[in-house]
Amino acid sequence: MKSISVSLENFLRPVQLREDEYLDEETKLIYCSRCRTARQKRFELPDRLFEPRCMCACEAEAYEQREKERKQREFLSRVAKNRSVGLPDPELRKHTFENDLGYNPKQMNMAKRFVENWSEFQKNSMGLLLWGDVGTGKSFLAGCIANALLDKGVPVMMTNFARLLNRLTDMYSGDRNAYVDSFHSFPLLIIDDLGVERNSEFAREQVFHIIDSRYRSQLPMIVTTNLTMEELKNPADLARARIYDRVLERCTPIRVNDQNIRNLNTNANMARAKQLLGR
Ligand SMILES: [Zn+2]
Repeated sequence: MKSISVSLENFLRPVQLREDEYLDEETKLIYCSRCRTARQKRFELPDRLFEPRCMCACEAEAYEQREKERKQREFLSRVAKNRSVGLPDPELRKHTFENDLGYNPKQMNMAKRFVENWSEFQKNSMGLLLWGDVGTGKSFLAGCIANALLDKGVPVMMTNFARLLNRLTDMYSGDRNAYVDSFHSFPLLIIDDLGVERNSEFAREQVFHIIDSRYRSQLPMIVTTNLTMEELKNPADLARARIYDRVLERCTPIRVNDQNIRNLNTNANMARAKQLLGR
C-alpha cells in the first residue's frame, strides 16, 4: 500500500523545479529564472494534457553556440587533413597570399580572383596555365591558390609531373589508370612543371594520360610550365600537340615573368650574409 501512496504523491507533484527555475503563475509552466522564457510546452490532446520540457532561450542560445563551435572544429580538422593529403610537400604549405612579397602584383591579383570566383571556374571546368621563365614564382602563385582554396574547405591536390611520372613508372599498367583516376576526388588538381615529358615517349604518354583524364572528367586543373606560349602553340610533334591542345583549351594562360624571384632572393640573402660578415 505504501508504494501506491508514493506514486500518488509523485503524480500530484509532477515536475521537480531545478534551482534556476520557477513555476509561472499565469501559465502554470516552468520558466527559466535567468532569461524568463518557458522551459516547458503544453499540448492539449483530446484525452490528456501533454507538457514536455523544452529549452529556454538561454539554453537554446548556448546549444547553438556549442554546435557552431563543434562544426568549426570539424571544419578545421577537415581542412588540416585535406592540406596534409593535398600538399604532400610541406614547403608548399608556406605558399600563401600572406607570405607574398609582392614580386608579381598583377598575377597575384588574378590568383586571388581565381580563388574568389572558384565556383564559376569549377562550373565551367576552367583552370589556369601559369607560364614563364624558371624562378619567376609560378609554383608560389599556384601554391597560394591551393592554400587559399584549402582554407575554404576545397580539397586540392598539388603535385608535379616529375613526381607523377616517377610513381607511374613503378606501376603495372593496370594500376596506372586507377592512380590517375584517383585524382578525380580532388575538385582542383595543380601540376607543376609541364614540359618534363619532352625527352621520353613513355613520359609523353603518361602526361597525356593525366591531362586527358582530367580533361574528360571535366574537372579543372592548374598547370605551370617553363615552356613559352610559342612552344605550347606550335609543338614539335603530334604527341605533344595532343597534350598542349587540351591544356590550352581548359586553362587560361597567365604569364608570370616580371622578375626572377630566385635571383632576387639570392641577392637579398647575399646582401644579408655580407652585412652579417661586416663586409
Ligand atoms: Zn534561460
